Amino acid sequence: MISRTLPARTLLFLGLCLTGRRGLASAPELKEQPKRIAVIGAGIGGTATTYFLRQEFGVGVKIDLFESGTVGGRLATEEIGGAEYETGGSIIHPLNLHMKHFLDRLGLSQRRDVPSKMAIFDGEQLSFQESDWFIVNFLRMLWRYGFNFLRMHMWVEGVLDKFMRIYQYQQFGYSFSSVERLLHAMGGDSFLLLANQTLEEAMLGAGFSQSFLNDIVAPVTRINYGQSVRINGFVGAVSLAGADPGLWAVDGGNKKVCSGLLYHSKAELIPAVVTAISTKQRPIKTGGMASLYEVNYAGEFGSAHALYDIVVVATPLHQGLSQIAFHGFTPPVPSHFPGHYHQTVTTLVHGLLNTSFLGVTDPPAQFWVSDVLTMEHKGSVINSLSSIDPVHIPTGYSRPPASAHKVWKVFSPQTLTKTQLSQMFLSWDTVLERRWLAYPSYRQPLRRTPPFVLHERLYYLGAVEWAASAMEMSAISARNLALLAHHRWHELEGKIDQEDLHIRLRSEL
Ligand SMILES: Cc1cc2nc3c(=O)[nH]c(=O)nc-3n(C[C@H](O)[C@H](O)[C@H](O)COP(=O)(O)OP(=O)(O)OC[C@H]3O[C@@H](n4cnc5c(N)ncnc54)[C@H](O)[C@@H]3O)c2cc1C
Repeated sequence: MISRTLPARTLLFLGLCLTGRRGLASAPELKEQPKRIAVIGAGIGGTATTYFLRQEFGVGVKIDLFESGTVGGRLATEEIGGAEYETGGSIIHPLNLHMKHFLDRLGLSQRRDVPSKMAIFDGEQLSFQESDWFIVNFLRMLWRYGFNFLRMHMWVEGVLDKFMRIYQYQQFGYSFSSVERLLHAMGGDSFLLLANQTLEEAMLGAGFSQSFLNDIVAPVTRINYGQSVRINGFVGAVSLAGADPGLWAVDGGNKKVCSGLLYHSKAELIPAVVTAISTKQRPIKTGGMASLYEVNYAGEFGSAHALYDIVVVATPLHQGLSQIAFHGFTPPVPSHFPGHYHQTVTTLVHGLLNTSFLGVTDPPAQFWVSDVLTMEHKGSVINSLSSIDPVHIPTGYSRPPASAHKVWKVFSPQTLTKTQLSQMFLSWDTVLERRWLAYPSYRQPLRRTPPFVLHERLYYLGAVEWAASAMEMSAISARNLALLAHHRWHELEGKIDQEDLHIRLRSEL
């Protein structure tokens, strides 16, 4: 793999982010700050929203965060043998600047890196196995796929370079009222085109070979999104960036970021399921009427409701993920938007791998591969198989070879049967399963994403997932919505949906 260093521009943005303040002060406030804001869902998106809302609106506003399950949402761990292992979102890209910023602000650190080795399984054997030697990997790839591999890195790098612009825009306080406008601001028409075609179309159009797509690209999209190269090109590029070196995770578990952001934002956690949101008019002291949102919720204490000036929905509005009724809105706000979420089953197995399942003939004591990606093949039941490390790496830890009992993580579209497990493992003492509606099913081109703005002061964070689902995408959406909510509240139109920012800001830097 190609090693990268952070471009100077990126470091500058990171430096700006670390100050925790925008480069330009907000324009003078035109009206009173809101009194109460509700955020629904305490995953990384919702907790990051409370953090950024606090930055925008200051200490005076009361922020309530509703959570029906556990803080962290799709960032979750399970315990095996006294250690915790990630079952949901696990890896973070080195250029995910919001996640890096959160770690710094919250005093968390990155988990110690344990070198890993990747292989690709074609259904019968390992068609590719990474060597310890960069030059060997490079020559193998060159021999089989020509310069496709090198060009793929350059292609992803080109997308990433444009993607990084969002940090600068947000640093300068700019926000976007739709996913399409956000994508367009980052990468112009080329990003909208990418999002509206499949990864396969985009890469074939860019001159990559079909065999490279089948043998190398599809295994990457299968491990990251459980789906084929027919996902949209933008999420495809995000997925391929997930094969870059330098990926990291949070020491102690990624979900620690969510609890840290919640604490830091001084929002009040309300452990309840939000059942309905409706519009209400209330008379105000100075005369006239104020328009507010009534949030209805139910918890162990029974049912209740409260009024808010601003509401951010930070859970996907899709079948099986939330059930919130919206009353009194014109045009109506649906409980569920079109499209569905893709099921990925995470199975953690503490056991002894049957290496012959992978067609490996070497003794298991010599099998050090940690990540087995899979090509699409007839009868395939798994998307990937990985030897995983605990969320905290103790001193002196080294990942054992396949001859040892250890923890494996299997991603599959369906629950694994006992027969399937016994084909993959010679023995086991623990099997833990977590079924996720993990990320959108990206089979259809994007066309139109759900809106960020559901009503005047009612916002929807999850819209961004239809471009790409990742922790950083939720964090970007969180900052965008906090800025958007602030600017719309104070009618700062000049900070919303501005065109050609990358050219205009270049002269300001
Ligand atoms: C198996 C798997 C692997 C992944 N791998 C990666 C990875 O390696 N890297 C990466 O960056 N991303 C990864 N992702 C994606 C990433 O985890 C998600 O994009 C991200 O965590 C989404 O965060 P969120 O806050 O937007 O949504 P969620 O985490 O889903 O949070 C929504 C919250 O809202 C709550 N809620 C729902 N309805 C209500 C209601 N009515 N009232 C109150 N609360 C409600 C839910 O309980 C939930 O806690 C993975 C996801 C999965 C499932």
